[in-house]
Amino acid sequence: MTDRRKVYLHFKPSEKLDSKIEQLRTLGRKYGFELVSDAKEANIIASIGGDGSFLQAIRKTDFRDDCLYVGINDGHLGFYTDFSLEDMGRIEYAMQSNIVEVLRYPVLEVSVDGMKTFHCLNECSIRSNIIKTFALDVYVDDLYFETFRGDGMVISTPTGSTAYNKSLKGAVVDPRLKGMQLTEIASLNNNEYRTLGSPLLLSGDRQLLLKVIQDGNDHPIIGADNEALSIRHCHEIGIKLANKQIKTLKMKDNSFLHKVKRSFL
Ligand code: NAP
Ligand code: MN
Repeated sequence: MTDRRKVYLHFKPSEKLDSKIEQLRTLGRKYGFELVSDAKEANIIASIGGDGSFLQAIRKTDFRDDCLYVGINDGHLGFYTDFSLEDMGRIEYAMQSNIVEVLRYPVLEVSVDGMKTFHCLNECSIRSNIIKTFALDVYVDDLYFETFRGDGMVISTPTGSTAYNKSLKGAVVDPRLKGMQLTEIASLNNNEYRTLGSPLLLSGDRQLLLKVIQDGNDHPIIGADNEALSIRHCHEIGIKLANKQIKTLKMKDNSFLHKVKRSFL
């Protein structure tokens, strides 16, 4: 076990955090954890900050599937952050006991024009970058499904379902269901354009293909979680569940349903 206790901390340095980080370091030492300054050497990558920081920590360390990610919030608990700097007692408890659990979260694998590929933990979003609609042909597996015209579409993972997807009236999905959800952002629906108009929850073995109709407005913004990709022009976006998952550490008394209840009810 000793060789699996190398911890990398991902955070934006600030004076406010300094003393907290020192407390964490002291606590870690007590239980045999060692802080490393290179994320590649770590077995545990801890993000300090909100869910947004957690998404960044995973992106910056390349969606590793051979380490554990831990989210530590600086205030309230979030969807990915099961610990809080305000509650060192809980962190210490987790370091020494078996009340923690490893959860595996599905991530999306997105490829643009069959070349660039990247991953998303929350969602992939495709949006018009001007005040004009754009159009996409949507294929599920090899079946032409619909032609979408509107502001954009969001393809979310189960854990991402409580974020952007939820604002679009998508369903909140239990992360034990390994699938992906397609939601629309302001689709036009009239005698010319017709889309499903409701969220589409797809099995994890499906593949989505979005073909950008080249009609002038064919430079949509492609977002991967909280980052925009620097892709100027694209024709085809392929989306499926990746064959790897992100492992996160969570407390046994803080299930997905606890989090949904705490955040929304
Ligand atoms: P942000 O715009 O600064 O904040 C978005 C809010 O969503 C934050 O409060 C964030 O938590 C929370 N959040 C992130 N992932 C979540 C999840 N899986 N379940 C529940 N809440 C979640 O952006 P950000 O913090 O960098 O997060 C990026 C995410 O924002 C994107 O992945 C997308 O899902 C979401 N987003 C939502 C909308 C919308 O609802 N209209 C539009 C664009 C993007 P923290 O405060 O703890 O970071
Ligand atoms: Mn073109």
